[in-house]
This record gives sequence, structure tokens and C-alpha cells, in this order.
Amino acid sequence: MSSQPWACPDCTAVYAPRNQSRGHDESCWISRGVEEICDADRDWFERHPFATERRRPITRAEVAEMRGGGFPFDSAPDRWRVLVTQLAPGARTRHFYDPAEARS
Ligand SMILES: [Zn+2]
Repeated sequence: MSSQPWACPDCTAVYAPRNQSRGHDESCWISRGVEEICDADRDWFERHPFATERRRPITRAEVAEMRGGGFPFDSAPDRWRVLVTQLAPGARTRHFYDPAEARS
């Protein structure tokens, strides 16, 4: 894994691998995109009050976010999926996985 900090392609934010500091510009599509999908997850759980898990495709912004954090995609990230787990209302975790590897 590279130890080089990663600069966001869309704004002035720089990721440092150790602390994953972000600081995207407000106009950055990556940070906007991640915010949008997190809002969509929240809405989904509000519409499905008895669900604790949601599985959905990964978004381009999440792929960019993870690459920025130094995550080495070893297969085409487009086909990756996200398992969103709601621990409590407003507290969710996102787990990224490759369905081809999760099948076993
Ligand atoms: Zn950015």
C-alpha cells in the first residue's frame, strides 16, 4: 500500500493515510456524493423501520473516498456493494465488499 498522501482530484483536500484527514471543499463532488448517499441511507432506514441492514451498490463517490483512504481495490470497484448496518437510529456503519468474494 502506498504511504503517499493522496490529493482529492476534485478539490484541495489531501488525505493522510494515518489519520485520513479530509477537509474537502464544499463544492467537491466526492464529499457531496458521500453526504448524499449517507442521507439516502438514513431515508431508507426511516422508510424501513424494522430493517437493520441495507445492501446497495457502491457509489462513485464512495469508491473515490475509499481510494483516497488508501483502500486497494483488487477487483473492479464498480461491482462492489455496500452493507449498511443501522446500529441505532442515526448510527450506521458502512461495510464495503466484493460480492464475488463474499459468495463463499
Ligand atoms: Zn474533494
